Amino acid sequence: MTNLEIGALLHEGKAKKVFRTNREGVVAVQFKDDATAFNAQKKAQLGGKGLLNWEISARLFEALETRGVCSHYLGCLEPGWMAVQEVKIVPLEVVLRNLAAGSLCKQMPIAPDTPLEPPLLDLYYKDDQLGDPLLTEARLELLRLVSPGERLQLETLSRQVNAVLQGLLAAIEITLVDFKLEFGRKPGGTMLLADEISPDTCRLWDQRAIAEKEGRILDKDRFRRDLGGVVEAYGEVLKRVQGLGPTPRHYR
Ligand code: 5GP
Repeated sequence: MTNLEIGALLHEGKAKKVFRTNREGVVAVQFKDDATAFNAQKKAQLGGKGLLNWEISARLFEALETRGVCSHYLGCLEPGWMAVQEVKIVPLEVVLRNLAAGSLCKQMPIAPDTPLEPPLLDLYYKDDQLGDPLLTEARLELLRLVSPGERLQLETLSRQVNAVLQGLLAAIEITLVDFKLEFGRKPGGTMLLADEISPDTCRLWDQRAIAEKEGRILDKDRFRRDLGGVVEAYGEVLKRVQGLGPTPRHYR
């Protein structure tokens, strides 16, 4: 097979860029150092964040794959880049919560840290201009974004991801509080887990932290809440995730 060549920019998001390649159905994703929060009202450049999220995401996608949960991930290219299957992203954010935190505690009379059993699954409409609104059953039907079969598939897969990730992270003394997933359709219509799984998209709490509660935060809340040490926290997550398995595979 000819070497993979990276071509034109297809799409630039807040944290990643997607490029065409010379291989049918394969695109190259570059992880950026840009950090955004509150619908991109807060922005910063965090040197090294892209590389950290790239490797954490690659390792977690591979760990999921080993445990039977497939995604768009194909393998790594040069540092900061990965090859993924080309999909059309469904404008839905699937949020899974194991413990109450973040927007749930702002919108509901639920105290932070309350365990949610079974884990709470919510769907949000992915649209920055609308502020990613929480969807109701009726609004989801109204928008016709997914068929009932796809909806079931999406939710089942998200709960599987949660169970696998929760176990993996617990082994490295990290609590998976909540996270957001995105899915996409391949040209034939098959749904695939897409986007990234990283401290940008998950709430991760350090079980080893004995200091004040903020000391346990290993995710983007450090940026959202101006706690400092964002890159250091992501680096700690990577260091522990590296202990879970081999170096991510190279895509050829
Ligand atoms: P919350 O609804 O509490 O703001 O977020 C719940 C979880 O989903 C958190 O782990 C958060 O990082 C993730 N999440 C929700 N929406 C987004 C989003 O638009 N971008 C990113 N990166 N993460 C999100």
